[in-house]
Amino acid sequence: MEIKITKTACPKVKPDSSELGFGKIFTDHMFIMDYSREKGWYDARIVPFGPFEIHPASTVLHYGSEIFEGLKAYRREDGRVQMFRPIENIRRMNNSAERLCLPQIDEEMAMEILKTFVKCEEDWTPSAPGTSLYLRPFMYGNDETLGVHAVHNARFMIIASPVGSYYKEGINPVKIMIEDQDVRAVRGGTGYAKCGGNYAASNRAGERAEQKGYSQVLWLDGVERKYIEEVGAMNVMFKINGEVVTPALTGSILPGITRKSCIEVLKSEGYKVSERLLSIDELEAAMADGTLEEAWGCGTAAVVSPIGELSYKGEIFTVNEGKIGEVTQKLYDTLTGIQWGKIEDKFGWICPLD
Ligand SMILES: *Cc1c(COP(=O)(O)O)cnc(C)c1O
Repeated sequence: MEIKITKTACPKVKPDSSELGFGKIFTDHMFIMDYSREKGWYDARIVPFGPFEIHPASTVLHYGSEIFEGLKAYRREDGRVQMFRPIENIRRMNNSAERLCLPQIDEEMAMEILKTFVKCEEDWTPSAPGTSLYLRPFMYGNDETLGVHAVHNARFMIIASPVGSYYKEGINPVKIMIEDQDVRAVRGGTGYAKCGGNYAASNRAGERAEQKGYSQVLWLDGVERKYIEEVGAMNVMFKINGEVVTPALTGSILPGITRKSCIEVLKSEGYKVSERLLSIDELEAAMADGTLEEAWGCGTAAVVSPIGELSYKGEIFTVNEGKIGEVTQKLYDTLTGIQWGKIEDKFGWICPLD
């Protein structure tokens, strides 16, 4: 496959690492590739970053056919740039695509695209501690008709954004509100797909939580509102009486790559990890009798995010005195150590650019 590269005539000045934040600054180029049922994927190209035209009847604008991924490129101390488990993102994107009737991308081709694009934007990978180059591949249905049907035309793109350290002032535990009204996903729906629509459905609860001083919501299952699912854009784990418990992937939960990595790290260190149903009653009991030892969210953006406070129907529970726990800290150190190339990657997760 040929990727045509058109370099920008006016490269931007790279920001200072103190100005980065999350997803506000974009690199000089973006990747675009189009799809039609007749031609398959065609016109793979890297072009200067910027707005582009879209047909007013494009499927994505009316029926929400959109999926995305999120992963990072990290600059090592020796200056080289590496990605973390990118093949997992490619596989998950194809699973999401299958659910939304969007086209598949051959794994090898997707890998070549990702590497070529990151190499093109490599200089944008910041080097200050905790910073990285966030990669956002996404795909949308692009038929230019209002008829409702499976997608015949689509577009795949990648944009990249240098992002700051998630924990500039140290790892501060977050406050999470357990949502008892809205639901995010149901089994048989799109919960396991990384699609924009899931976020559109989540925003109202997120907004309400924010107004009450909580940083994110913890979702319960969509049918009984009884079982713990996940937090906003993170999976969730609890240490209860020595056992690490995380909700099983029942179809309404996003299968996080950080979640998977945490489980693999913990098991390799001899921890007992259970992927199972965890009811709000069991969690409440564990909070009440003190057997809930730690709670944390896990996702690409924050890696792990300790939960210091949980609220449910107005009742407030403090977890581990509002401090980061031992296992949470260990996971953070191990995963970030591997990602930035500071500790040996015995799992084979690191993907260098060349
Ligand atoms: C992306 C995402 C996660 C975390 O997945 P990672 O692969 O670990 O970044 C968790 N939940 C939702 C809803 C997500 O969109």
